[in-house]
Amino acid sequence: MKAQNQTTQHLIDGDTSAALDRITDWCKERKLPAYRGRQIHEHLVEQRTLNPSDMTTLPKMIREELSETLLAPTVTINTVLRSTDGTLKFLFDLTDGKSVEAVWIPTQERGTLCVSSQVGCAAGCTFCATGTMKLTRNLSASEIVGQWNAVDQFTRGEGKVGVTQLVFMGMGEPLHNYPSVSGALNWLTSPDGFDMSPRRITVSTVGIVPKIPKLVAEHPQIRLAVSLHSAVEETRARIVPIQSKHSLSDLLDTLSRLRHKVRRISLEYVVLPGVNDDVQEALALAAFARKCHGHINLLPFHPFDGAPFKAADEDTVERFREEVSRHYDGQVTARRSRGLDIDGACGQLAIKGSKPQGE
Ligand code: SF4
Repeated sequence: MKAQNQTTQHLIDGDTSAALDRITDWCKERKLPAYRGRQIHEHLVEQRTLNPSDMTTLPKMIREELSETLLAPTVTINTVLRSTDGTLKFLFDLTDGKSVEAVWIPTQERGTLCVSSQVGCAAGCTFCATGTMKLTRNLSASEIVGQWNAVDQFTRGEGKVGVTQLVFMGMGEPLHNYPSVSGALNWLTSPDGFDMSPRRITVSTVGIVPKIPKLVAEHPQIRLAVSLHSAVEETRARIVPIQSKHSLSDLLDTLSRLRHKVRRISLEYVVLPGVNDDVQEALALAAFARKCHGHINLLPFHPFDGAPFKAADEDTVERFREEVSRHYDGQVTARRSRGLDIDGACGQLAIKGSKPQGE
């Protein structure tokens, strides 16, 4: 059955609309009947089975050949850490020996997956453990979708809700890896793909200004989150070094222009005691949010080894929330920490014990 030995692009790394044609061609090259192609496609998009070994209506030979070519597995679960609050942290092995992490957070009837888009990150935010790893490489669309699929199957297998919401807030800056992130979004949301509602997906960026209009134009239904952390130029430069390339005023101009085109803009704000939690910071944050109609989302800083900031307790966050609310009529919420006991909370993903990968 084997066709010529050549490197095959993973199906998920190609166009969603061309998937059925590619599967049909793949079957023709192997002189397989047309109905096999339809079976493969059905397994993939209707049953959301990405792993050929689970396509049980196919003969073993076809499953094996698919596993070596069109649907070669891209991520494998290495370890699952379980928090006492129900959060799960997944360590994934990639095929080149690198690793990434993703975190699944259950709340009532929802399961939110925080997915990674890069191995490490070049943005170097000083409150974030991933930022200390530096960038090793971008993930492919199939590696991003692979995380979603593996966690969805794993949690459903345990009788849980699966993945109902997806947030690109794991390792990496999604807009530094736009082609793969956009490709993954197409597969996840397209009716030809996995048909997930784009309203259940949030892409978070530290503010890569030139890429934001492109993301909004190509994926208008998704939610946009911006890692702001200060609306004062000098303070933000200390927390988010990439600001030297993308200024706060450019970011605000862009968000203000796009505010009617995006379903929702969230302004993520890690409260760092003594750094960005005084009255001046609250006033600046309120003024920023007013101009772009942002939903302010405050979260406490979660320390990691060598972190340059102190942890914030819930009272500190609440005090700051009240101060901001005095100056802003829009939504100001404080997010509860989840998965702290497994280093799975926001800003803590760093493949513990590892050096910057690839060094
Ligand atoms: S917060 Fe996001 S963009 Fe900043 S270093 Fe961490 S992973 Fe990268």
